[in-house]
Amino acid sequence: NGCLYIVPTPIGNLADITERSVQTLRAVDAIAAEDTRHSGQLLQHLGIRNELFALHEHNERQRAEQVVERLLQGQSIALISDAGTPLISDPGYVLVQQCRAEGIKVVALPGACAFVTALSAAGLPTDRFAFEGFLPAKPQQRRKRLQGLLSDTRTLVFYESPHRIVDCLADFVSEFGAERQLVLGRELTKTFETYLHGSIAEVQAQVLADSNQQRGEMVLVLAGAAAVAEDDVTPQALRTLTLLREHLP
Ligand code: SAM
Repeated sequence: NGCLYIVPTPIGNLADITERSVQTLRAVDAIAAEDTRHSGQLLQHLGIRNELFALHEHNERQRAEQVVERLLQGQSIALISDAGTPLISDPGYVLVQQCRAEGIKVVALPGACAFVTALSAAGLPTDRFAFEGFLPAKPQQRRKRLQGLLSDTRTLVFYESPHRIVDCLADFVSEFGAERQLVLGRELTKTFETYLHGSIAEVQAQVLADSNQQRGEMVLVLAGAAAVAEDDVTPQALRTLTLLREHLP
């Protein structure tokens, strides 16, 4: 059997691809990419002219079967996504699952990942954290998701789209209260890399004051709930307490 390689690509700065990733992309029989036009540019930059085909959200199940077929015939294939580590808020899960089911070797290479980058620079506890990926786009579902996280004491990490950052911060204030510590990492590894930090209300004020802060790619790193009272206070009571605390002198 061949081998499926999971290969991270840069999240902005092209120098962030590892030597091993380049060697692997050069050595495989074919490369499966989320967007062949986008990845074609990276491969051209690296001087790699391997076969490139599309494996994205909409064709993953069917394409995965074809990839498994090729792997069973002994070919080796690399999976890449538009940016960062495949399978992290990106396609690949179905393919890896099928490879495991067929006994095909899967090798993941370490490399760029936006949430690890943001988390390691945030200055919030990293001993326990939860990667929450993208929040639901619909306001009601988003708030429900946040309510479910209210008493979670772990640092919470989210991906957010620039179109929704203002609404998302408003929901953070109403669900978690204004005082929790928040770090917003934006355009990481790129020219306009920025970290905004402070209470949720302070970060919100900075984002509202400067429309440039509403652009680009973003990771939100939010402090977990205070560990106290976790066992004997219900999430609803904790929420009331958090909101009340803001109105006390
Ligand atoms: N697979 C990627 C990874 O390993 O991080 C994530 C892919 S997901 C479709 C894209 C989201 O990741 C963006 O909306 C943003 O939240 C985050 N992201 C990607 N690149 C980023 C960057 N340079 N700075 C900040 N956030 C980034």
